[in-house]
Amino acid sequence: MFQNRIMEKIANYINGEMVAPISNTYIDNFNPSIGAVYSLIPDSDEKDIDLATKAAQAAFPLWSKTPKEKRARVLQKLAYLIEANLDRFAEAESRDNGKPLSLAKRVDIPRAAANFNFYATGVLHYASEAHQMEDIAINYTTREPIGVCGCISPWNLPLYLFSWKIAPALAIGNTVVAKPSEVTPYTAFLLSELCIEAGLPKGVLNIVHGLGHKVGAAITKHPDIPVISFTGGTVTGAEIARTAGPMFKKLSLELGGKNPNIIFDDCDFENALSTTMHSSFANQGQICLCGSRIFVQRGIYEKFRDAFVEKTQELIVGNPFDADSNLGAVVSQSHMEKVLSYVALAKEEGGTVLTGGHQVKLEGEQENGWYLAPTIIEGLSFDCRTNQEEIFGPVVTIMPFDTVEEVLYMANSTKYGLASTVWTQDITKAHNVAAQLHSGIVWVNTWLLRDLRTPFGGVKASGVGREGGFNAFEFFTEPKNICIKL
Ligand code: NDP
Repeated sequence: MFQNRIMEKIANYINGEMVAPISNTYIDNFNPSIGAVYSLIPDSDEKDIDLATKAAQAAFPLWSKTPKEKRARVLQKLAYLIEANLDRFAEAESRDNGKPLSLAKRVDIPRAAANFNFYATGVLHYASEAHQMEDIAINYTTREPIGVCGCISPWNLPLYLFSWKIAPALAIGNTVVAKPSEVTPYTAFLLSELCIEAGLPKGVLNIVHGLGHKVGAAITKHPDIPVISFTGGTVTGAEIARTAGPMFKKLSLELGGKNPNIIFDDCDFENALSTTMHSSFANQGQICLCGSRIFVQRGIYEKFRDAFVEKTQELIVGNPFDADSNLGAVVSQSHMEKVLSYVALAKEEGGTVLTGGHQVKLEGEQENGWYLAPTIIEGLSFDCRTNQEEIFGPVVTIMPFDTVEEVLYMANSTKYGLASTVWTQDITKAHNVAAQLHSGIVWVNTWLLRDLRTPFGGVKASGVGREGGFNAFEFFTEPKNICIKL
């Protein structure tokens, strides 16, 4: 039905230029809010990655030796340009991903600019270490950029997570070959144009669009890309590790989660309730940090459950461009079907859907969009599949508990360990529970409060390594210790 329309073609950004894929073939890019194709994505392959890698290799000697103040200035200009184009970027992100425009404007795009600003200024404060051995010797440790880094990011927070990798890699002096998710490529494409405007030297950043198993896999196995920073699903992470491990590549993996919210009787009820609404359904539940298993202590279980259901029923699922929409569309038809299959599974496993559990059909231009009702499921055991596997949509389960020991056992029972939230006014209990949770991040009486200096990442199947603050500079550099005998 779209054959007669001329679609906008997204371009790769290689060696400072916007270029078509070598194959000159394209993939459909969908707008999930209307369920229709609206632009075309380069169907790139290993030839484009090879070209991008050569450009990045050629740019590395000069960029890595460029004074950090100068590198920082270019990246800050990029941050400024993103801010100056906030409306355009936010609209593009919302159209490409289905998220509410208000969220893209408030969170995604400002955070992308903040990522560039943070690492541009951070590199000016990053210092190497020295270890003195009394009057015997002195060790000093240099940290050098490594070369061409491969950065692969997912669709849920497209520019936010793309820039979270690229910014530290570039600031510290590496060059980059990057692949945004093929599902949401548009803001990375817009970023390419800003890189040219900001005066980023050619070849320093190369953005190649296309399918994961072609473009992502080509980055992972390219012999001249010694560093891979990946955010995405655990299964993909394992596949990348299988390829990159034997090649001794440096690897950072930020993977899936099945995060618990632990709500004690003595919590600040209203605060716990309103924050749980966000941690359950923000971005249609498609944030790796969303809490998807809600454990509520028996004393307030019914009160909390009823209020949570009531508030959830007030949420508006609507056109992402409408200011009053709380939830927009989920990212794709296949993702919507996957999420709905988990609702069906939950029912088979004995769960009761308290609210939601179905597709939402909008009218007008949005009638074919992929919308889901925010869903709460009760009555499941903590170890059933619904409570163990990542759903990554607006679906949460709610369960009562009695004791700290019991809730810790249930919270820690999954293979994941990304983030947890704990709600209590008892600080000793908060410390005790936080210490025993198997997760890389614990929020007490809050959620998604981020200080970019802190280590970010998960344990177990949620990942390997940490991003954030100087952790990212450590990842994107190679240390060398030099010992001088005095
Ligand atoms: P995927 O793992 O499907 O994809 C992530 C990226 O990897 C995409 O760019 C994808 O390309 C690419 N890719 C796919 N297959 C390969 C391959 N064989 N080799 C190399 N690259 C490949 O994840 P999603 O995009 O579906 O994102 C959702 C997942 O990301 C969830 O599990 C979520 O929890 C996780 N996530 C984790 C975060 C964290 O910080 N821990 C943050 C955000 C999300 P393409 O899209 O073109 O297939």
